[in-house]
Amino acid sequence: MSITPPPTISLDSRFARALPELALPWQAERFPAPDLLVLNDALAADLGLDAAWLRSPEGVRLLVGDRIPDGATPVAQAYAGHQFGHYSPRLGDGRALLLGEVVDTDGRPRDLHLKGSGRTPFSRGGDGLAVVGPMLREYIISEAMHALNIPTTRSLAVVATGHPVRRETLAPGAVLARVASSHLRVGSFQYARATGDIGVLRRLADHAIARHHPAAADAGLPCLALFEAVVATQASLVAQWMLVGFVHGVMNTDNMTISGETIDYGPCAFMEAFDPATVFSSIDHAGRYAYGHQPAMAEWNLARLAEALLPLLAEDEEQAIALAVEALGAFRRRYDDAWSAGMRAKLGLPADTAISPLVDDLLTLLQADHVDHTSFYRRLTLADTEPVRELFLDLPGIDAWLTRWRALAPDTELMRRVNPAYIPRNHLVEQALAAATDGDLEPLERLLDAVTNPYDERPDRERYTTPAPTDFGATYQTFCGT
Ligand code: AMP
Ligand code: MG
Repeated sequence: MSITPPPTISLDSRFARALPELALPWQAERFPAPDLLVLNDALAADLGLDAAWLRSPEGVRLLVGDRIPDGATPVAQAYAGHQFGHYSPRLGDGRALLLGEVVDTDGRPRDLHLKGSGRTPFSRGGDGLAVVGPMLREYIISEAMHALNIPTTRSLAVVATGHPVRRETLAPGAVLARVASSHLRVGSFQYARATGDIGVLRRLADHAIARHHPAAADAGLPCLALFEAVVATQASLVAQWMLVGFVHGVMNTDNMTISGETIDYGPCAFMEAFDPATVFSSIDHAGRYAYGHQPAMAEWNLARLAEALLPLLAEDEEQAIALAVEALGAFRRRYDDAWSAGMRAKLGLPADTAISPLVDDLLTLLQADHVDHTSFYRRLTLADTEPVRELFLDLPGIDAWLTRWRALAPDTELMRRVNPAYIPRNHLVEQALAAATDGDLEPLERLLDAVTNPYDERPDRERYTTPAPTDFGATYQTFCGT
């Protein structure tokens, strides 16, 4: 019998070295009986990690932070944040650890991070733990987002810890191994600014520029260029959320990245019936993070980033504010451009088509008849108009709209590449999580197979295309911090 030697995994600690003020060396809790539930083979390959080894007992110990490669320094990251508009000066990784940075097969550094790895000095009243259901939920939705070509953190694995966690009842604990181009957040800059040490703020900005927006280093004002780059990447990201009907649910400044990746899948969900007021989160009573508010909330968060960056923009505060206001002014334009370009593609229209009245009228029809967002655009790619008409009560309205749209000679082939057949439907996600929590992983695997191939329609995946039964959809709520 041949024994495969353990592969050497090299985890750098660039963040911890550059920003010790924001990185608290810490170690994961020890879990006696970790059990791998799901592993992302394709992502492991991208990271140059051997999936077979990750499945071994030693590999699983790495995935829960119990086997740290030589030279690595796991840290809990410090950050602040505005949560539902209220500032908290000290949040940080209360149940997470940055194990370190892996260089992927394209030569890019990627954070390897654990969620649910035990208490840290940032835990406040929390237990530092995470539960199987919500960690699998993050796995499903983040991998679906990636397959939809939307920038996102990725999920490498979910490991059941064998340790029960007290929530409303006892629930099985889990650790999610997450991969991100970094975990720098708007809240990281708020924390650095609040230290009162401009050297820390400057080092954080330099680190972010080097890692995410290297072109900014050559600009006349590199920190202003960094801010402009974050404005641009977030405008594009939120436009993509809006185009697929994604509702993040908890767009606090600690949950908004500098890289432009979607992060922290908590109470998020995909909208079914089109309605800008759609909210799923049980704690979002005022609808602050409703579907239709997301662009404005992103802009609000970017204003908080600008405030944190002010001392780096100009010596004179008035001048710094003027520069920040001007840069932030680009958000609306960039968002509108990204959204219009995306809508043109969804409707199969050439880049120069004026779409304004056509799209406004469509959204009015979709909202009035509670039409399923995803089904509508996908059915629109079919030669037969009946499947689209079936979604509406106002038949004269949709018929008139279809006539106008067809007159523009839409390219349905293009539309099939941008309008997904499969998104993580809320009722199917819940079914898969309930089964997995009871030990049956098959529904989860089948769901993952559909949502990670969202444009590849197959007859045997029919059940993944239909919205939830009305009694489920009308009352569906998601929960935070679980
Ligand atoms: P989130 O809403 O998941 O983005 O988390 C907001 C803040 O609460 C972060 O600082 C988390 O680390 C912290 N947090 C969430 N859940 C827990 C938990 N179970 N134990 C400790 N801290 C937590
Ligand atoms: Mg968070």
